[in-house]
Amino acid sequence: MSEQATEIHRHYIDGEWTDGTGEETFTSENPATGETLGTFVRGTEEDVERAVDAAEAAFDEWRAMSYIDRAEVLWQVYHELRDRTDELGEIVTMECGKEISEGKADVVEAWHMVEWAAGNARRPHGDVVPSEIASKDAYMRRQPRGVVGCITPWNFPVAIPFWHMAITLVEGNTVVWKPAEQTPWCGQIIAEMMTDAGVPDGVFNLVQGFGDAGNAIVEDERVDTVLFTGSAEVGHKIDQTIGGQPGREVSLEMGGKNGIVITEEADMDVALHSAVMSSFKTTGQRCVSSERLIVHEDVYDEFKSEFVDLAEKVAVGDPLEEDTFMGPVVDESQVEKFHKYNELARTEGANVLVDRAELPQEEIPDGHEDGHWVGPFVYEVEYDPDLRCIHEEVFGPHVALIEYSGDIERAMEIHNDVPYGLAGAIISEDYRQINHYRDTRKAGLAYANLPCIGAEVQLPFGGVGKSGKGAPSAREAIEAVTERTAWTVNNSKDIQMAQGLSADITTQDD
Ligand code: ADP
Repeated sequence: MSEQATEIHRHYIDGEWTDGTGEETFTSENPATGETLGTFVRGTEEDVERAVDAAEAAFDEWRAMSYIDRAEVLWQVYHELRDRTDELGEIVTMECGKEISEGKADVVEAWHMVEWAAGNARRPHGDVVPSEIASKDAYMRRQPRGVVGCITPWNFPVAIPFWHMAITLVEGNTVVWKPAEQTPWCGQIIAEMMTDAGVPDGVFNLVQGFGDAGNAIVEDERVDTVLFTGSAEVGHKIDQTIGGQPGREVSLEMGGKNGIVITEEADMDVALHSAVMSSFKTTGQRCVSSERLIVHEDVYDEFKSEFVDLAEKVAVGDPLEEDTFMGPVVDESQVEKFHKYNELARTEGANVLVDRAELPQEEIPDGHEDGHWVGPFVYEVEYDPDLRCIHEEVFGPHVALIEYSGDIERAMEIHNDVPYGLAGAIISEDYRQINHYRDTRKAGLAYANLPCIGAEVQLPFGGVGKSGKGAPSAREAIEAVTERTAWTVNNSKDIQMAQGLSADITTQDD
């Protein structure tokens, strides 16, 4: 085994690598092979407490630096991320199983986010706001909130941490970060990059571990804002804890049961390409992946036949190979959840069209027998608001075809009938249908004639309904990690009030 795999990797707290107070370690495993990639100490509540102590103590000095000086530190990270895209992209692929173009894109997205945040430091901040009183100058200014807790998932193990942390740090906050337990190696490398860049002690802290360490961040009232990306179950719990505590903020981005509407006016090639990308890229494990294809009856048979054909053929294989389309799913619990929902679809009356769920042995690449392999599962089902299989998120290549008849309004009823509202798309050549979709869809991110995956960092990224609260990315994250404050200066010796309020002080002598 390599030194990387045998060494025990540690937390990074208050400028030091530390074993922390826990006794336990955990390993990172390659989902394609089952091979151990590294061993990591498991964080405890005390470790989180120490990290928050450090972040709190470092805050005043960090916030006192200029935006541009803080951004200079992040530019170092930007260059390292950029220079190491290929190497780190392979590590992303090895640790979370996404095929290699996705592994690299994850790193590219991370440096895009750092570029956005650090570049933003040289742009105007706040607003000059008119006052009713000519002699008053009024401003909206921003100030950092303090300690920000970042809790991130495994499926974008480099990009999402930078969605959270790049803006947070440039805006002058300090960070306590817990990466996902499935991808601690990416966490370790990001922490090394922060130290290489010279982030001052205590400004950035990494605690490796599981949900209990994440929960300790949430429970610590000194953490002013929690940024969370992950499952709806955990996100809602965090929201409940923090929602009742004055002065604390939370921004959440969770899952979806995303749909694509394919109307009678769709271009069939665009429809097929978009549907395959949305349903099977990342093996269906993006929070924006599509598990519902809502297709008009006039084009249903043609779409079904060609989609089924492609789903039978998409290349599942070694994610490090460039001709692989789908790698493994992340772990055994994800395999089980996928099979459970496939079974549920069957019991709810689905007509199964493609069943590669138990991937045949001959499709599993040599030397990868211990990986977590599944293939596409596609079914058709008549729309029924009570069916769980078309309302609950699976997070795998589990896709329902739902036929509709009538106009776009009917498609939208089906599209919007889920508790989530993260991503969606319409495929149509008719601009009226497209605009109707744009105006009535329940989804934070939506596309026309495109897959419903593939966001860019400069756009808001967040959901409605059960999918989220706030948008912890690019400019929207600024709202969660800063306070907007009003600042008014009087240029006169007279005090004059707005709204015609009298500024005269009358006394008993008057
Ligand atoms: P996923 O299904 O994508 O793994 P999770 O919501 O389980 O999503 O995990 C996302 C992140 O949240 C991970 O870093 C995980 O360790 C963390 N986490 C899990 N449970 C909790 C919790 N109760 N409180 C805070 N963080 C948690």
